[in-house]
Amino acid sequence: MTGLTADTEFEDKLPFDDAFHEECGVFGIFDREDAGALTALGLHALQHRGQEAAGIVTYDGTQFIAERHSGLVSEAFGEKGGHTKKLKGSCAVGHNRYSTTGGSMARNIQPMFADLAGGGLALAHNGNLTNARHLRTRLVREGAIFQSTSDTEAILHLVAQSKYGPVVERLIDALKQVEGAYSLVALTSKKLIGVRDPWGVRPLVLGELEGASILASETCALDIIGARFVRDIKPGEMVVITRDGIESYMPFAPQPERFCIFEYVYFARPDSTVEGRNVYDARGRIGAELANESPVDADMVVPVPDSGVPAALGFARASGIPFELGIIRNHYVGRTFIEPTDSVRHLGVRLKHNPNRALLAGRRVILVDDSIVRGTTSKKIVQMVRDAGASEVHMRIASPPTTNSCFYGVDTPNTEELLAHRMTTEEMRRFIGADSLAFVSMDGLYRAVGEPKRNNASPQFCDACFSGSYPISLTDMNGGQSGQLSLLAEVA
Ligand code: AMP
Repeated sequence: MTGLTADTEFEDKLPFDDAFHEECGVFGIFDREDAGALTALGLHALQHRGQEAAGIVTYDGTQFIAERHSGLVSEAFGEKGGHTKKLKGSCAVGHNRYSTTGGSMARNIQPMFADLAGGGLALAHNGNLTNARHLRTRLVREGAIFQSTSDTEAILHLVAQSKYGPVVERLIDALKQVEGAYSLVALTSKKLIGVRDPWGVRPLVLGELEGASILASETCALDIIGARFVRDIKPGEMVVITRDGIESYMPFAPQPERFCIFEYVYFARPDSTVEGRNVYDARGRIGAELANESPVDADMVVPVPDSGVPAALGFARASGIPFELGIIRNHYVGRTFIEPTDSVRHLGVRLKHNPNRALLAGRRVILVDDSIVRGTTSKKIVQMVRDAGASEVHMRIASPPTTNSCFYGVDTPNTEELLAHRMTTEEMRRFIGADSLAFVSMDGLYRAVGEPKRNNASPQFCDACFSGSYPISLTDMNGGQSGQLSLLAEVA
């Protein structure tokens, strides 16, 4: 890897973890002084999309420079980490990584880089490929030597093997072979490329800063560097940014659009506008739908901070019940969900939230959160609010029950671990210990994001986590876990 100063402290672990899924943030900037530092800022704004690791690759006119580190963006690229200084050049791509598996490996940290026949290519991917294992089996048989367990690496190998000449055509050739969800940014010595899968499951926006083009997962990453939002990259679109301007291609067979509705529920930052909708507004409207669908007499509406705040405000406005901060969040711990073990997760909730006792004692409380996944958070929070003296605790959830795993890039536990997969709403109510429990309906959610109702024959969004209706084929999953094990056998 000529000129690539990558972190080589690879952990010595089996090169196959039990899942390929990741959820991530991507950023790219072309032809702008301090590209590395601006990318670090962009990744900082996208930190909510991935807190496990961050990486940046720049091109300085003669060589690619890579810095990939585990931990938060500020740890690696802030003043203390000091790695930004090394990232010389006027073009950069960056990536935040998030995965559930505790044994995540340094070599999975993106952007991935390869020295191809035509030059270097750095690739950062948000999403998840649903035929990655199949592709990998084939590529390994054909002689490819994988360095990571990441599905993104399969794309690099496909680009390397493509019989086409120019990198853009090779990337298109590669992407025509992959299935799944992807928003990608790629950097060559002369181009910054952005692509969204034909269904447009994950977001990707185009921005501009004094003539320099930017690609980012969300608009909040444009705001942080003072860049202007230009437009969303369209589903199935590839933009190629060079010194001559921006070219747009639609190289794939068109598919029905299926933007991830969970981005509005939880994943995207509330100050972002994705696919023409402001996330905060959408969450407020979900809360209002919830209040109209499942009203309850109470003294206050209390959000589970921070993810429940916009929906709780919407609930409070629609119901006329006062909004109160009955739970205070300590901001110096990460999201509980990503802690690797159950015991730490339980501990994490206590570390993170504290009830405002003076406010809650003797009051009837409506708790609002965005979703119930395993139910760990809700159970603890309900208990905490009861212990603080609340006389009634009603839980309202700003999404339909999460009954199915996501295979398109949002890290969710196995379907069997999802509370709503195992239990009815009444069973869940008993499990979390609430006086009442209600979820927003699917149509309520669709109304909140601006659709009259869900079109059951052809849903306007990907809502597989709530409906089990997966728009993109699940080639690997249909082979089950055995697809992965047989891969190990093949290699041996
Ligand atoms: P649980 O305790 O497993 O029910 O998790 C529910 C909490 O996790 C909710 O408060 C959500 O805000 C949050 N959450 C939901 N989905 C995700 C996800 N994919 N990644 C991280 N956190 C999530």
